Formats: sequence, structure tokens, C-alpha cells
Amino acid sequence: MSQKPLHLLHVDAFTPQGWIKDACISISEGRITQIVPCSEANPQPEDRQIHCEGWIASPGWIELQINGAFGVDFAEQPQRIWEVAARLPEFGFTAFLPTIVTSPLAVFQQAMEVWQAGPPAGWRGAIPLGLHFEGPFLNPKKKGAHNPQFLQLPRHDLIAGWEAANGVRLVTLAPELPGALGLAETLRQRGITLAIGHSLATYAEAMTAFERGFCYVTHLYNAMTPLEYRSPGLVGAILTNPKITVSLIADGVHVHPAMLKLAYQTRPPDQVVLVTDAMSALGMPPGRYPLGGRQEVFVDERSARLQDGTLAGSLLKPADALRTMMTACDVPMEAILPCLTSTPARVLGLTNKGRLEVGADADLTLLDPQGNPVMTIVSGEIVYTARD
Ligand code: ZN
Repeated sequence: MSQKPLHLLHVDAFTPQGWIKDACISISEGRITQIVPCSEANPQPEDRQIHCEGWIASPGWIELQINGAFGVDFAEQPQRIWEVAARLPEFGFTAFLPTIVTSPLAVFQQAMEVWQAGPPAGWRGAIPLGLHFEGPFLNPKKKGAHNPQFLQLPRHDLIAGWEAANGVRLVTLAPELPGALGLAETLRQRGITLAIGHSLATYAEAMTAFERGFCYVTHLYNAMTPLEYRSPGLVGAILTNPKITVSLIADGVHVHPAMLKLAYQTRPPDQVVLVTDAMSALGMPPGRYPLGGRQEVFVDERSARLQDGTLAGSLLKPADALRTMMTACDVPMEAILPCLTSTPARVLGLTNKGRLEVGADADLTLLDPQGNPVMTIVSGEIVYTARD
């Protein structure tokens, strides 16, 4: 369906070359066709125009780890992925990886089938780029909120069909488990990005994993061997390897702000991803909610925990993660926006998303000066507008 070009007028655009203040961003056929100062723009009278004075145009926000929202847990009800995806633009997301925590193997299979089936007719929302499987090959001693009943030792017969073509984009596993490196090699050959997480890997085991293709770290600091001065562990291996991209849960609960700053300072800004690790209670009031693997989570205003107090995902909104990170690192917004945009795109090998530039997909998150989403655009279509 062809639509008239859309012009976003008088917006401050965050581009790979830096800010273009008072810009005009033109969109046609789902792509960005022009980003110029408004004084140089020439919209036709019949074109669609939106005045964006006071707004910031960010590339669309991309989430690599989210377990559910609006009362739906992706591992409990993978058939509802598209329904949740339709509402995620409220938080500024234009694309995401539905994340399946450790669950019965049939759940992973069902999630692939739901993704492959594609959206229902007329669907609009944040695009599920594929799936993140966080489990079941995790270290039982760093299981966090994962149900130990469904953890598995790595075995090739358990990953039948796990490939990028079937929607599996990212797998988090513990490289020190017996057979994990061989399994990881197979996953990598199938086009899947390898993440270390929920792991007791030593420094040496972590270094080997990096050599064997692990390039991403799931929620740095949480559920891994900590930093000690005689035994640097997984955290020590990560902090001394700036080429490894790390994800952080910047909710002020999972990680101390000083440790957020430490991670940021050890590597180029394009090696840090902000994830929410949000669970089904995101966008919902406090109460009891499901987390995959048939567990119940108790949710208050700030955190989500199992009955024994173990953190079980977050209630984090990406705008809050952005602000927490800016404050922790004492940097301006443009220093952190890549963590929600171009860096997660690069982790997935996407060159057409995560950047405001001519030819890129017209996925945009428009923000107020505080960084709150006011409008979300996916493939050139407005899919969310904040009410005044
Ligand atoms: Zn986790």
C-alpha cells in the first residue's frame, strides 16, 4: 500500500554524524528519504506533515531481552507474542526479541512456530526480529529465576530447528557446561548470535568462549562469577575485553550505578546495550504475575521477585534505563542513545535499522526533552502517539 510521503518538521534529529537541529525528516515507502535542516526542506502541500517542535528524533529503540508485558509472559503464552508486540511501541520500542526463559523444550518450538507464522492480518506494532532463547543451557548454580526443573546440559538433539531462518537470533548459554562450546559452534554456524549468561565461567573459560565466537554478554554482573582481585572471573574477563558487547539492566535495582559507569568506561560506547529484561508485569499494577517455567513472581512498585526474594526480570521502561544510564555515567543523551538503537542493531547484524540516515528503515522513536516517547513510527507508519 503506497502512502503519501510523511515529513517530520522542526525536530532535533540524532544521526550517525551527530545532531541535526531543527531538521526535517522525510519518509516514503517505509524508508527515510531525506534528513536536512528545515530551511532546506521542500515538502509538497499534499504531503503528510507533522510539526515536532521541542521533540527529539531517535532511531527506533530495539530491545534484545524482554520476557513479556501487559500481563503476558512469552514463555507461558508464546501464541500472544504478536498481541504484546502491538502495544510495545508505547514504551518506544520499534523492534525487539521476544525472550523465552528456561522452559519445557516444546515452548521454544512453539515460539518459533508463532514467529514463523507471522502477524495476524492488519497487525501493526514493534517488529519481533526473531527470538532470544535465554536457556535452557544455563549453570544451575547461577539460575536466577530460571526454573531448575527445566535446565538442560547441552546436547545437539535438543536444538533441532534452532536456526536464524526459523527465528532464533540470540541464545544465552553458560560456556563452561560440558558440551557447551560444541553446541555454540553449531548455533553460530546456523546464524545465531552467542551470548554468555547465567554462568560460573572462570576467567580462562570466558577467554576461551570469546575465542570460540561468544561476542555478547547477557545482563553483565547479574548471575555470573563476580570480580575478585585474585580471581577475575567472568566479569573480569568481560571488563578487560572491550570488543565484547555487554547488556546492562539499568533499573537501579539489578546493578549499582557505579558499576554501570564502570562497564561504560571500559569499552567504546557502541559496545553497550541497554535491555529491560522486563517481565509480564511491565505496564501493569503490582500483584502476582507469571514467569516462564511455571513460576509465580511477586511484583511491587520497583521490582519483580520470586517468593525467596530472587530478582525475576524487571519492570524497567527503556526511557528510565536511558535516564539512569545518563545519570550514572554523567553523559548527555546522545552518548547513551546508541545503547538502545545502533548497538542492538549491530549485535543482530542489521544494517538497515538503528540509524537515522537516508535509505534506512523508517523506524523512529520521537522523544520529549526528558527522553519519554511521544510518538513511535515503524516502517513509516505512526503506531503510537502519547496522549497530552
Ligand atoms: Zn537472565
